Amino acid sequence: KLSQRLQAVANYVPSKARLADIGSDHAYLPAWLVLNQKISYAVAGEVVQGPFLSAKKLVESCNLQAQIVVRLADGLQAISDQDAINVVTICGMGGFLIREILENGVQKGKLQGTERLILQPNIGEYSLRKWLMQHNYRIIAEEILEEDAKIYGIIVAEKDQRVVHYTEKELIFGPILMQEKSVVFKKKWQHEKVQKGKILKNLKKAQVSAENLAKLKEITDILE
Ligand code: SAM
Repeated sequence: KLSQRLQAVANYVPSKARLADIGSDHAYLPAWLVLNQKISYAVAGEVVQGPFLSAKKLVESCNLQAQIVVRLADGLQAISDQDAINVVTICGMGGFLIREILENGVQKGKLQGTERLILQPNIGEYSLRKWLMQHNYRIIAEEILEEDAKIYGIIVAEKDQRVVHYTEKELIFGPILMQEKSVVFKKKWQHEKVQKGKILKNLKKAQVSAENLAKLKEITDILE
């Protein structure tokens, strides 16, 4: 059984897709999709030896070697033209790292622009959405969910013929999420608001103490 987070990602993988799961760790996502007959071909990419071996072990123990190829590679270098990948999932990482993997993928000619991207950044959604916009990917679905007291976001994007443009607000909050304003969405931003409020308060305090410090110096000087 998948975590709620990975299950939500799996829901956006169309049936019969040829999937590349980059940073697959245990290969739970591709294994679940194959075992549930949603897909019949996947590449599980890992750049670190430990997770790569975990993925291999799981695939072998489920006897899925014919359907899931586990490769030790950096990002999208795990795939080649012959794989005919049409869906890429990159989950459980920071938005900056996901962005870097996508950027390298474009540089190395690994992304054709025909693939559906299903991304699950833990943080740094703004910079990821910005990259998508700059490369003319349209966000076709977005989700926000809470599991084990953590809030996760999912962004599904596909390249568009028309020019894609998002406002600053849409890049920050998510063009779809900000329309829906779900309970979890409100919880996330309420929390951010409190955090920002605290920072501001501390800043004000710091200013006051800077003032005091200046005053103290004046007094010290006059007393010398
Ligand atoms: N995708 C799984 C999930 O969402 O549950 C695993 C997430 S795990 C926190 C992140 C994985 O990404 C780690 O196993 C790490 O080794 C892998 N990773 C980080 N950078 C990578 C890269 N450039 N290429 C491939 N894998 C990478």
